[in-house]
Amino acid sequence: MSANLLLEAGQVSKRFPLPGGAGEFTVLDRLDLALGEGEIVALLGKSGSGKSTLLRILAGLIPPTEGAVRYRGRPVTGPCPGVAMVFQSFALLPWLDVLGNVELGLKARGVPPGLRRDKALRMIDVIGLDGFESAYPRELSGGMRQRVGIARALAVEPDVLLMDEPFSALDVLTAESLRGELMDLWAGRKIPTRAILLVTHNIEEAVLLADRVVILGNDPGHVRADLRIELPRPRSREDPDVQAFADELYQLLTRPEAAGEAGAAVRAAPQPLPHARVGALAGFLEIVAERGGRVDLHRLAGALHLEVRELLPLVDAAALLGFATVREGDASLSPGGRAFVEAPGLARKELFRRALEERPSLVTRIHAALQGKANRRLSESFFLGLFEQHWSAAEARRQLDTAIDWGRYAELFGFEDDTNELFIEPAGGLR
Ligand code: ADP
Ligand code: MG
Repeated sequence: MSANLLLEAGQVSKRFPLPGGAGEFTVLDRLDLALGEGEIVALLGKSGSGKSTLLRILAGLIPPTEGAVRYRGRPVTGPCPGVAMVFQSFALLPWLDVLGNVELGLKARGVPPGLRRDKALRMIDVIGLDGFESAYPRELSGGMRQRVGIARALAVEPDVLLMDEPFSALDVLTAESLRGELMDLWAGRKIPTRAILLVTHNIEEAVLLADRVVILGNDPGHVRADLRIELPRPRSREDPDVQAFADELYQLLTRPEAAGEAGAAVRAAPQPLPHARVGALAGFLEIVAERGGRVDLHRLAGALHLEVRELLPLVDAAALLGFATVREGDASLSPGGRAFVEAPGLARKELFRRALEERPSLVTRIHAALQGKANRRLSESFFLGLFEQHWSAAEARRQLDTAIDWGRYAELFGFEDDTNELFIEPAGGLR
């Protein structure tokens, strides 16, 4: 990297208001990130860690609550002309054809119609959309739609390209070829872009593409690790060094953060539950058992054609319940986990319940709250209200759904659909 800084977030915090005016919750906490000329930086982090929010702040689309963004040393106070975004969802306007969509960014920057058209057509050509100028988004495959998204971003000739999981909605082969083409354009300097920040859930993608990997930690989002990848290019998946680096990243992502690692950022929020359904968790434990009780998580994700984000909640849930231990990127079944896998259905419930009862979690909190009420019933909105003090409404909902799934399976409490109430049966059990 040259010393030339293009885009810089300095001590950026972002808070969103909680619904109903009940205060705010913190998504990003005093985060520093710098993008230098010539760099590709991959941004990794669990879902909800604030990656998309950070990208929107860097692009000047939303302001930080505190801290500042600088582009070439100048403060960013609105949409930044040197910066363009590519979205996971493509974000195309269905009523505009390909040319119209590619012209959008230029139009927003006040480029006059003739020049706009020229620049858009040139980028359509570069990105391989030739012949599709007057097609509408609905007529295009996912891969072609994302080409439009990329052409629109590049048409404004941005210094900095911010890409938010640009390939994750595409099938594996389409993603691979689009990624390869984009890298050829970058390496061959066929696009004016001087730095790329790429959000991805795909660890291998990060190692193959990036000069640096930044890992965001959760609650609230902060930079947990910032690692330079010194491997020579071109890099290949089969290269042992690439695999070793990917393994290392996998370990970092699966290792729980040491208490205090987030420094003053740690809030007294309840530990969130990993979003794993009991059925999926049981399936995961069975797979680990089938493979001899110990798996390399990175390899397992590959073998199962799963993304990290799909596997991690299962791993986290298994660890939280004491059914597995995670060390150096390997998950091993614990004796408790093995007993669970080998137990018949009803006995599994019993083991699951004991595992939950032995350790404090959101599920035990809910159980305790229900026990503290004379009729042992509380409405879901009671819990949602509590959770929304710590999480967004959507995350509060997901936490409650997961807790209900676990609590129901363990027969610790039930949920009644018609009254939207959680309850404990007076007799103790549910049936
Ligand atoms: P990621 O991209 O890492 O999955 P996001 O940046 O999308 O994470 O979201 C981080 C957190 O901020 C989530 O809890 C999300 O619900 C919340 N959030 C994002 N945008 C808004 C908004 N405009 N208003 C309220 N909450 C938001
Ligand atoms: Mg996101």
